[in-house]
Amino acid sequence: MDDRTYTADATPDETVTVAGWVHEIRDLGGIAFLILRDKTGRIQIKFEKEEMDDELVETGLDAPRESVVSVTGAVEEEPRAPTGVEVTPDSVEVLSAADTELPLDPTGKVEAELPTRLDNRTLDLRREAGQAIFEIRSEMQRAAREAFRAVDATEINTPKIVATGTEGGTELFPITYFGREAFMNQSPQLFKQLVAGSNVERVFEIGPIFRAEEHNTPRHLNEATSIDFEGAFCDHHEAMDVCESVVVAAYEGVAENCTEELGALDLAEDFSVPETPFPRLTYEEAIERINATGALDEQLVWGDDLPTEGEKALGDDVGGHYFITDWPADIKPFYIMDHDDDETLSTGFDLMHPRMELVSGGQREHRREQLIEGFEAQGLDPEAFEYYTKIFRYGMPPHAGWAIGGERLLMTMLELDNIREAVLFPRDRQRLSP
Ligand code: ATP
Ligand code: MG
Repeated sequence: MDDRTYTADATPDETVTVAGWVHEIRDLGGIAFLILRDKTGRIQIKFEKEEMDDELVETGLDAPRESVVSVTGAVEEEPRAPTGVEVTPDSVEVLSAADTELPLDPTGKVEAELPTRLDNRTLDLRREAGQAIFEIRSEMQRAAREAFRAVDATEINTPKIVATGTEGGTELFPITYFGREAFMNQSPQLFKQLVAGSNVERVFEIGPIFRAEEHNTPRHLNEATSIDFEGAFCDHHEAMDVCESVVVAAYEGVAENCTEELGALDLAEDFSVPETPFPRLTYEEAIERINATGALDEQLVWGDDLPTEGEKALGDDVGGHYFITDWPADIKPFYIMDHDDDETLSTGFDLMHPRMELVSGGQREHRREQLIEGFEAQGLDPEAFEYYTKIFRYGMPPHAGWAIGGERLLMTMLELDNIREAVLFPRDRQRLSP
């Protein structure tokens, strides 16, 4: 609609056409108001029943809530109206009438359960808080892209249908690909490495990953968005530097450009950009600190994976984002390099938010022989990865990288209880549509 004006841009003494949803009708008798809502906010449309054409009044006031209407009329100043202006309509057109019964209340006055909201996501996103989360998600990705460009990384897109998994045989979704077995990709890991080994050198991708997680948890999805980085001639320290800069840029972008959205989520006052540098604890220091909190019944010993309660206790103790470095080689994937002087220690790292893991990364094994040994040690057949390992025969630079779970970044940033709040149409054990 060429001549449409956003409600937020309607200025007094102009005649405008505004279009949007019927948020509410307030009928006071001789006078009634239609509150029209669009992307930018709401505006009051005034109906003076005695003075206006009956048909016009009926069309406006009989439109069920959430119907889509277009209104043309003069804008006037009105201090008592929510936005300080109101429109006196010359014409009202109902573009799409809504049913009188709605599955949920987009004004947010009546709260709905998460499954109902997800089943009716469109209506859910008409709530201010729902819209705000996804405006912020968009800004978070924009700011991350800009931060990647600032460190010379090139945005890439890698295949999501693949012949082999990377994180072991579990957690894979098999599919049929012209009569052959194929899988949905768990991670762009091998592909981003293959591109980092070219002149492109530094790459990033924001794309879907698929994991057949067996359990529903508040922080796992079966389809998630991975924000990936891989850089040639980077070691794990530089990779952590880039990771920190991207996370901070995402927060800064949101702090600068999403004040209204943060307000809609009641975060305007509490929102802060994390302080840098993020502490870098070794795995050994991490387990010692967890043990010292006394949060676990059994003390952790070197080689244990960190249990969720341990992560939480450490998070409370540290109080902000922090890295855990120097993990035992055995609990990190085969493609991560071990320390030269101690093969039991890996260069792998995780970035933690006090509530959960956000990132895993590390320096990669670029020496072909060691890489193949790693495949075997992890019970994977190197032959199946020939497309990948062969490239390591043709000059593979040292390189490092990481992956942020996009929804986890958003859910921790916005203090969302459930990761499903951070995805438009979540995929979990029960949910396959919409
Ligand atoms: P976790 O141990 O928390 O299940 P992970 O170590 O298996 O995660 P990685 O393979 O390290 O996950 O993936 C990198 C990042 O991607 C994780 O740190 C996390 O932020 C995100 N991620 C991984 N799996 C999921 C998932 N199922 N749902 C949402 N985000 C995920
Ligand atoms: Mg991990």
